[in-house]
Amino acid sequence: MEIRGASAIVTGGASGIGAATARRLAKRGAKVVVADLNADAGQQLAQEIDGVFVPVDVTDTAQIEAAVNAAIELAPLKALVNSAGIGSAQRTIGRDGEFASAHNIDVYKKVIAINLIGTFDAVRLAATAMSRNDPGEDKDRGAIVNLASVAAFDGQIGQAAYSSSKGGVVGMTLPVARDLSAAGIRLNTIAPGLIDTPIYGSGPESDAFKAKLGESVLFPKRLGVPDELASMVEELLTNSYMNAEVVRVDGGIRMP
Ligand code: NAD
Repeated sequence: MEIRGASAIVTGGASGIGAATARRLAKRGAKVVVADLNADAGQQLAQEIDGVFVPVDVTDTAQIEAAVNAAIELAPLKALVNSAGIGSAQRTIGRDGEFASAHNIDVYKKVIAINLIGTFDAVRLAATAMSRNDPGEDKDRGAIVNLASVAAFDGQIGQAAYSSSKGGVVGMTLPVARDLSAAGIRLNTIAPGLIDTPIYGSGPESDAFKAKLGESVLFPKRLGVPDELASMVEELLTNSYMNAEVVRVDGGIRMP
């Protein structure tokens, strides 16, 4: 699928995997809408890539609509990348047996609202706009990539909210791809392993956590870098024969 001259929305585009993706899509000739909560970083990136920043909280349907409208104003919307996301809470909760209090229900609902429902809502609204596109020579009206996680298949202590949300993103892949195929829109999901981004926070504790997890990568024994994910996003968007797939990009990690 050709994205040169089309518009593309990247939710969570101000940081990490989303920012690397926004840079790649811009380099490939798309007009990129960076849709993120973080206005400072989002605006800076939009300026760098000659794109547009739209302040978006993905839990707010009207704000997603604003991003879709901004994209359509630039050019036909042909790509959506859902990279907005947050982690769970502490990584040690649950060890003391206080499961209910450790898994605060408000935190659980928040993670589901952003990572799962926000992703679905953006798919819903962007796909509606894409379905109005003229099909190109390859018959693609548009393509969507959602960011899940290997946590969808794994079960680390304290990660119930995150794993549930990412399991939902994996779970929607086939049924939504089936729904959208009728309109000539493809949807694929990436399940990243451990990618070195601000999602892990900063400081000695997070450095130690990342170093330990790097050891569980089969090869290479390191965290991934955002562009290693962005290149897969680009492939899934532009390869017209990729549909309804969940692709792990994780160095063969097996979580401890
Ligand atoms: P990141 O923290 O670097 O970037 C996430 C971006 O999402 C930030 O810019 C943040 O402002 C934005 N965001 C958060 N909540 C939002 C909301 N409600 N509305 C709009 N924007 C919001 O994280 P990342 O590591 O680049 O993660 C990108 C995606 O990949 C996430 O969905 C994450 O769960 C997933 N993922 C990351 C890793 C990893 O190891 N980094 C692993 C597996 C999956």
